[in-house]
Amino acid sequence: MHLLRQVHQQLSVRSDLRNFAGVRRAAAGAIFEISQVFDVLQRLREGEKMVAVVAPAILGQYNAPTEKVYGAIKAIGFEDVIEVAQGAMETIRNEGAELEEKIEEGQAFMTTSCCPSWVELANKHIPEMKPFISSTGSPMYYAARIAKEKHPDAQVVFIGPCVAKRKEARRDECVDFVMTFEEINSIFDGLGIEVATTDPFPIPFVSTRAAHGFAQAGGVMGAVQLFLTDNNRPQVEGIQVSNLNKKNVSLLRAYAKSGKAPAKFIEVMACEGGCITGPSTHNLHDAGKRQFAKELAKR
Ligand code: SF4
Repeated sequence: MHLLRQVHQQLSVRSDLRNFAGVRRAAAGAIFEISQVFDVLQRLREGEKMVAVVAPAILGQYNAPTEKVYGAIKAIGFEDVIEVAQGAMETIRNEGAELEEKIEEGQAFMTTSCCPSWVELANKHIPEMKPFISSTGSPMYYAARIAKEKHPDAQVVFIGPCVAKRKEARRDECVDFVMTFEEINSIFDGLGIEVATTDPFPIPFVSTRAAHGFAQAGGVMGAVQLFLTDNNRPQVEGIQVSNLNKKNVSLLRAYAKSGKAPAKFIEVMACEGGCITGPSTHNLHDAGKRQFAKELAKR
């Protein structure tokens, strides 16, 4: 229990400082936060096999090479670390194909579906938008299936910057738990794990730079457009809507009600800069963006 108490102390201090921003940003999708940290730690203590699937925004969370961050996550007791960017590659392929199909069928436009706050908001407050939202799974959805295939006897823990993923995970039988970057950092603090001095856990670079780019605003749209170009498909004009403030929600509502939009493909992210500025990031947003760009350049 000593370990759990240490982590609890770290979480309490950090929550006081950070929860307000997180709750405020998640409010658009009516998400509330119930931590699963202790469920995960308890299972790890009991020797259950757990696999971490880590969102691409991790590249910007520490002033350290990403392999060291993965090493620190592994040091908590995870069996393996799998990049959600691998799942993003499936999202790119499927969303690109779906976009082409919808356009051929005469649909006026299609929005992305990987931000659960956006999907939740649209379902609750803009019902006319439902037919325009992509039905493609999010990177977490596909990454969890990659993890379950590789480790059929393991529990899958998604680690990312987003409290809204908890709700998405409740509908996904392949995601057992969700933890945020804030929470994972509290565990590092509680266990005395120093990212800078931890042994790296190298992961083969099997996912593309575009797939990691999902973490920043414009990344999903750019990746799908690149996929179409690479496959000699006709290009599709896109626009990007990040920050679901009143003005942007009104704009999206108008597109849905009129069935007309300025572009055929609309990337929608609830957070202003995309997931890299998500509600439960560990790093400060500007520093996170700089570090993300540095790590992304290695991919
Ligand atoms: S932009 Fe990313 S971090 Fe923000 S709510 Fe959407 S999925 Fe979560």
